Amino acid sequence: MYEEELKNKLTPEQYRVLREKGTERPFSGKYVHRTNDGNYVCVVCQNPLFSSDAQFDSGTGWPSFDKAIEGSITYNEETDSRTEIICAKCGSHLGHVFDDGPTQTGKRYCINSVCLDLKSKKYT
Ligand SMILES: [Zn+2]
Repeated sequence: MYEEELKNKLTPEQYRVLREKGTERPFSGKYVHRTNDGNYVCVVCQNPLFSSDAQFDSGTGWPSFDKAIEGSITYNEETDSRTEIICAKCGSHLGHVFDDGPTQTGKRYCINSVCLDLKSKKYT
């Protein structure tokens, strides 16, 4: 997808975070706390990234997960020793992953709400 097209599709805040590696203000996002069950997908390309089952409340003000859906994410070691998380499909910035998670996986995926879209499970 071309950048101009994305600029029109995304809000300025989404563009800043996803395409310019920005960070949203803590506690500002709509997915800070778990609400409905389902899969969180990349807001740019609809790639399923996280299950709501993996979400926990980290108290940081950003949606946090203890694992990602396999193959959905690319990891990028940054020079300041943080690990950036990128959507494996479209290359958009999502957040960072840390090794201080409280669950068995030991991981804390710290994600910007604006990068995510929750596809709720349909109960039919
Ligand atoms: Zn994507």
